Amino acid sequence: MTHPMPSSAPVSSDAVNALNESERKRIEAKSALFAPPTPVTEDGRRELVGLSREELAEVLTEIGEKPFRAKQLWHWIYHQGVTDFSRMSTIARPLQAKLEKHFIVGRPSLTTQQTSKDDTRKFLFRFRDGQEAETVYIPDRREDRGAVCISSQVGCTLSCTFCHTGTQKLVRNLGAAEIVGQFMAARDSYGEWPSPKGDTPRLLSTIVLMGMGEPLYNYENVAKAMKIIMDGEGIALSRRRITLSTSGVVPMMDRCGDELGINLAISLHAVRNDLRDQLVPLNRKYPIEELMAACHRYPAASNSRRITFEYIMIRDVNDSDAEARELVRLIRGLPAKVNLIPFNPWPGSDFRPSTRERLASFAQIVMDAGYAAPIRMPRGKDILAACGQLKTQSERKRQAESRRNEA
Ligand code: SF4
Repeated sequence: MTHPMPSSAPVSSDAVNALNESERKRIEAKSALFAPPTPVTEDGRRELVGLSREELAEVLTEIGEKPFRAKQLWHWIYHQGVTDFSRMSTIARPLQAKLEKHFIVGRPSLTTQQTSKDDTRKFLFRFRDGQEAETVYIPDRREDRGAVCISSQVGCTLSCTFCHTGTQKLVRNLGAAEIVGQFMAARDSYGEWPSPKGDTPRLLSTIVLMGMGEPLYNYENVAKAMKIIMDGEGIALSRRRITLSTSGVVPMMDRCGDELGINLAISLHAVRNDLRDQLVPLNRKYPIEELMAACHRYPAASNSRRITFEYIMIRDVNDSDAEARELVRLIRGLPAKVNLIPFNPWPGSDFRPSTRERLASFAQIVMDAGYAAPIRMPRGKDILAACGQLKTQSERKRQAESRRNEA
């Protein structure tokens, strides 16, 4: 496949839009092939989590109820976190029973939950069709708040060579109910209901779409889920507290910025196309120049909302001083910060993490240029909650268990 436009030629914004539009259509058509199953229980009840407000009003109309009930239900589902219709005290008992008959307010079921020595908590959730994905809560070490890392797909189509998750084929996209459900179930685990309002501190205070999968290859479901989470009458998490991490699906970045306005993180990991082509093969389609141009266009970026560049530090591969200087050149003019992440070794990978000295020297060059460059040490190592290792280990564990059972 050729690149949508030559990487160095000046191209008008109309031409960029036209090319992006056709690419977007292609990506959306491909995404539809991996659509999640309809969220309906075996006894035919419709899942209400994951419906937009309009869809909620529609399903209520279908059972002969007035659409205004949607507002009431929204409050109970997303503000109060109630899953049992009989606890929705502002709804009359006969209607509670009717809702129970037709609908369900569910959660993904919890297969395993582990809490690390550093308090990172990893959840393995199972969905109705038996597929599973992992979610991780990473508490802030100094304050009562933390980030929930959410998965957007089961498996991944991209094969970033440093990522263990990337060795698992894409099984399917997660639906809006399953994406919102991960966050709601994580909040169940900490009892964080009703949803804190306004400036009231939240324990689960930010969302990072950095779990399994490429969120921009499942944009429709991710966008729907984020709109539900941002809705001011429900969970009401500000767009400033949500970060989507992409390997660089350029045509979808504009749409994400325009429609959601959430923060952006880029899995960069290399500053030259020849190396990035190997580490992040999606680069062959959307090379660094196009990626950086899309970052410059990203509407939600500002000095208070910087674009985060994730950079896995791999010994003798991408961690030289020259590469640090090139990184600075690439991000010049952008409101940006750089997260430096020492590579997390996994069986079968020849890569090794950069040395402490290399990390320090690289970080210093970036900081001297005026950019924040924190070195992110892996969290939850003892429970295998490190980036890109989650589902794989769970699968391997289950395979070992089933082998034992068969023996
Ligand atoms: S880094 Fe992200 S996009 Fe790349 S293979 Fe891993 S999960 Fe997929």
